[in-house]
Amino acid sequence: MALIVHKYGGTSMGSVERIKNVARRVAKWHAAGHQMVVVPSAMSGETNRLIGLAKEIQPQPDSRELDMIASTGEQVSVGLLAMALKAEGVDAVSYAGWQVAVRTDNAYTKARILSIDDAKVRADLNAGRVVVITGFQGADADGNITTLGRGGSDTSAVAVAAALKADECLIYTDVDGVYTTDPRIVAEARRLEKITFEEMLEMASLGSKVLQIRSVEFAGKYKVKTRVLSSLTPPDISLAEEAVSGTLITFEEDETMEQAVISGIAFNRDEAKITVMNVPDRPGIAFQILGPVAEANIDVDMIIQNASNAGMTDFSFTVHRNEYQAALDVLNQKVREHIQAGEILGDPKICKVSVVGIGMRSHVGIASLMFRTLSEEGINIQMISTSEIKISVVIEDKYMELAVRALHKAFGLEHAT
Ligand code: ADP
Ligand code: ASP
Ligand code: MG
Repeated sequence: MALIVHKYGGTSMGSVERIKNVARRVAKWHAAGHQMVVVPSAMSGETNRLIGLAKEIQPQPDSRELDMIASTGEQVSVGLLAMALKAEGVDAVSYAGWQVAVRTDNAYTKARILSIDDAKVRADLNAGRVVVITGFQGADADGNITTLGRGGSDTSAVAVAAALKADECLIYTDVDGVYTTDPRIVAEARRLEKITFEEMLEMASLGSKVLQIRSVEFAGKYKVKTRVLSSLTPPDISLAEEAVSGTLITFEEDETMEQAVISGIAFNRDEAKITVMNVPDRPGIAFQILGPVAEANIDVDMIIQNASNAGMTDFSFTVHRNEYQAALDVLNQKVREHIQAGEILGDPKICKVSVVGIGMRSHVGIASLMFRTLSEEGINIQMISTSEIKISVVIEDKYMELAVRALHKAFGLEHAT
């Protein structure tokens, strides 16, 4: 008997029929003798609908109230799923995050999980019940409802698995695993049997929506065995077959892993670029520009400072598109005059494309192949950043699909190694 956490995404919960299928699948695992915790997302489209309603009233919604609204999609899901399980003859109970309790900080719309109390859940499991817990939401120390950022149900599931020391966390989604790149963009993308934790962390942080970055961080920190697999297979397929399907995130390289230099390509359309022109090139300038941005709780991603010309330079960085306007406001109100900079330019029509692979550590020429491929397609590179296992470029938004397809081909990712 094992303790297993299942997570089902929006598409997997997308209709009453699909919820019944989820219940059948969970009932199958339960009948095999496992203790089961299930963390569902809101039905597909529901979180967008709720945020849309909020924005009709307040174009820049109050973040506390927004979380109050956005978190309700998951509450509907847990109730429906618990009912569907009961209809299957399985004893089940649903909980909202605060009831468990899933304690978070108070950074509304992007809260971090601080702790999860396992007492109530363990008591239910020991009584033979399936426990269904809302994804995406928690509550801060004062009981305010918070949400974990878009895609946050992945994080809820892995965090619950970590808190319960579960044997495995299975992330069921609308694709049958982690692919070399988004299979919706590149038809030739190939499913990976295994991916290292480090590569998954980079892929997620660079925009691969298949797992939210913080879920991968939790998996790494607490060594949660995590697998991504399809919820769209028939719910009654054999448990043995299902248990080894999809993609396993591994913590160590082993001889059965592919030896590819590049494992995958990620892209991110959610960023915007900001350039502060004509900045005096003197010590402390990066701090004077980015300090106020950080104080406004705005995350900065890529940063580039041009070579100085007659003591002046240009300074560019990227932020999430949701925080683009706020970042421009901070710069215009608190920074520009203070450092006597020139114009502040913004460009939301950018995207970031990255190649990721631990093989980069031992191979040279990856950057040059990447840059040559983009240049052959006539794509201009605006910014570059690298780490030991990734190279990212910022390019014009409209070239994203072309760039991803060309790079997928250039690195031979459609063929197994
Ligand atoms: P869920 O609602 O189940 O959480 P998401 O839409 O958040 O599902 O994530 C699954 C989607 O992630 C897939 O439908 C796919 O389009 C996208 N995706 C992006 N990159 C990858 C990748 N490398 N491998 C698999 N899927 C990917
Ligand atoms: N329902 C939330 C969202 O749409 C959380 C999730 O699906 O993971 O972002
Ligand atoms: Mg998701």
